[in-house]
Amino acid sequence: MNDCIFCKIIAGEIPSTKVFENEDMAIIKDLNPQAKIHLLILPKKHYANIGELAANDADLLKRCFSAFAGLTDELGLQNGYRLITNKGDDGCQSVNHIHIHILGGEKLAEKMG
Ligand code: AMP
Ligand code: ZN
Repeated sequence: MNDCIFCKIIAGEIPSTKVFENEDMAIIKDLNPQAKIHLLILPKKHYANIGELAANDADLLKRCFSAFAGLTDELGLQNGYRLITNKGDDGCQSVNHIHIHILGGEKLAEKMG
């Protein structure tokens, strides 16, 4: 049984606000936004973290970034944005399905960590 919350969101079994979807990924609004715009890129295929995805499916990662790059204006990110992916304990990863945070819509803090 797959208990992954992001797999369930991708499958539509748990509600979310999807702002974009294609065959590779969904982009949803983060439930607890940490910036005016806080979205999550969810690659649809389950990998636990960025290391697993990059090692096994670098093409998928590339396609996700390419698609995102074409969407920034319509997502309200004309002035820029920050992408973050947390991995493991030191990175404070809390959901073990690769996701990339998109933060923007305002001037972000210069300090990142
Ligand atoms: P991380 O700590 O990097 O693993 O990030 C997990 C993110 O998922 C957090 O920013 C949460 O607010 C977000 N999150 C958890 N559950 C949901 C959900 N059901 N819908 C949208 N975002 C969620
Ligand atoms: Zn998953």
